[in-house]
Amino acid sequence: TDPALIRNFCIIAHIDHGKSTLADRMLQLTGVVEQRQMRAQYLDRMDIERERGITIKSQAVRLPWAPTTGDGEGTTHVLNMIDTPGHVDFTYEVSRSLAACEGTILLVDAAQGIEAQTLANLYLALENDLTIIPVLNKIDLPAAQPEKYAAELAHIIGCDPSEVLKVSAKTGEGVAELLNKVVAEVPPPVGVADAPARAMIFDSVYDSYRGVVTYVKVVDGQLSKRERIQMMSTGAAHELLEIGVSSPEMTASDGLGVGEVGYLITGVKDVRQSKVGDTVTQLHKGATEALGGYKDPKPMVFSGLYPLDGSDYPELRDALDKLQLNDAALVYEPETSAALGFGFRVGFLGLLHLDVIRERLEREFGLDLIATAPNVVYRVIMEDGTECTVTNPSEFPTGKIAEVYEPMVRATVLAPSEFVGAIMELCQSRRGNLLGMDYLSEDRVELRYTLPLAEIVFDFFDQLKSKTRGYASLDYEPTGEQTSELVKVDILLHGDKVDAFSAILHKDKAYAYGVRMAGKLRELIPRQQFEVPIQAAIGSRVIARETVRAIRKDVLAKCYGGDISRKRKLLEKQKEGKKRMKMVGAVEVPQEAFIAALSTD
Ligand code: GDP
Ligand code: MG
Repeated sequence: TDPALIRNFCIIAHIDHGKSTLADRMLQLTGVVEQRQMRAQYLDRMDIERERGITIKSQAVRLPWAPTTGDGEGTTHVLNMIDTPGHVDFTYEVSRSLAACEGTILLVDAAQGIEAQTLANLYLALENDLTIIPVLNKIDLPAAQPEKYAAELAHIIGCDPSEVLKVSAKTGEGVAELLNKVVAEVPPPVGVADAPARAMIFDSVYDSYRGVVTYVKVVDGQLSKRERIQMMSTGAAHELLEIGVSSPEMTASDGLGVGEVGYLITGVKDVRQSKVGDTVTQLHKGATEALGGYKDPKPMVFSGLYPLDGSDYPELRDALDKLQLNDAALVYEPETSAALGFGFRVGFLGLLHLDVIRERLEREFGLDLIATAPNVVYRVIMEDGTECTVTNPSEFPTGKIAEVYEPMVRATVLAPSEFVGAIMELCQSRRGNLLGMDYLSEDRVELRYTLPLAEIVFDFFDQLKSKTRGYASLDYEPTGEQTSELVKVDILLHGDKVDAFSAILHKDKAYAYGVRMAGKLRELIPRQQFEVPIQAAIGSRVIARETVRAIRKDVLAKCYGGDISRKRKLLEKQKEGKKRMKMVGAVEVPQEAFIAALSTD
């Protein structure tokens, strides 16, 4: 295709603002999906994605469109719509899919206004020099306030309110005009046709039949079928078994040229060999300089995952192996816990990533899991100058510590202005530092904070939602690290540490944690034949203490001799119960107690 006729664009939108519905309308209007095949949210393939209404993996679709008016009227153009993941955890993937585009539709619900994530992604788009097309969706809704939110959008991106398009993805109103505008305003891709090929990978998906399907945008040169290609970050070479475009089903072609967006299949089985952000070139006489912007995915949040039933351990390992084929950001290694048995320490990009993986393990692989409280990665410098990285609180070093560094984020919160006080209070209590505050319109504000990531991974979002009656939205991005006065709190049962409950906390929060956990466990642990002290300690210093009093629980005594079968039944029942017990030192703890103590409330 002549690059002058290509338009590469994406849609930036908050969850539920109608991105999938708009994409559906575009598929229909451009005729690539026939009416009778149309089902809602055609492009959202994963079940969890559908149910939770989030797009985890981005995809690209090729749409032929001849504008009905204006520039290029009557000439068929190729529109490549690149679907970006919407969530904070996947910022890096979002930034790569944006880098494959020249323009973006900024889609905002006309009854809701812009949200924090959308704003954060808009900033990313502006950094990538994309042309922004502001659009208000759902104008068919009675609650829509198109004038108010058009003014807000115009204010944010610096255009005239009359330039904001108003559409209904549901009825299709305004969607043809939007496609016309994409052709008229989004610049065509530019690249050097006779240079060595350079294509950027913006997505990579594992398919059990075809192996890894890699989505690329060709920036320079040309990639052809059967050619040998090379991944520039690793130097690994592969044969291009198939190349083509998705429209939206995969359609093979002979090659892809400058500005084109499509897929590659090389037969590799693991997405880590085809990494988002990497540059693909030819093996022979290939490019020497990669396109910028490649980063290795870096897990930010860790949690221990244990099978509820210890015999499921091999299944858990197989399931993680399978998920990793499609998720370069997922890392894990075996771990054992005295309290929970054999499991894995698993690294995630963020909390949503953790939720999604856990849910898939439970749903797709039928596993029942216990997850330990999520923690971030700490860097500890010892007084003797040695350094270590801690991904599991129970591994926090015990020697003389000089400094501990924790990861920080820059958070953006958008909310109606009446909640400013509540939001500030919450951020303050989470060791936040206010960077600035702006009014987007007279009743909506944007607050910017730096916060320790550790404070966000622990129920921050839930708190934010409940303090703002669900109106606030949050986005964050990593901004390096900071030294903090952090300590490890251990929980001891009868003098033995329960590894699953060790936590790294700011010193001002250690006491409250200790008291809370000791109190919880006293409620949850059944009485034993002896007194069981529960202690919270920092090193050897005890900061909280509770006691489970002794009881002599002789169930058989209640059976007054006589009925042997009843006695046997009771003994058997006790044995059953024992299976679900875990020993911590000399103390028997029902597994439910661990689960209950680990759950947040
Ligand atoms: P996404 O999360 O951005 O992909 O949003 P969806 O496309 O899944 O839409 C979220 C909800 O809004 C769905 O229930 C849609 O039916 C509804 N919706 C999307 N566009 C419109 C619209 O233009 N008008 C109305 N009334 N509802 C819409
Ligand atoms: Mg969607």
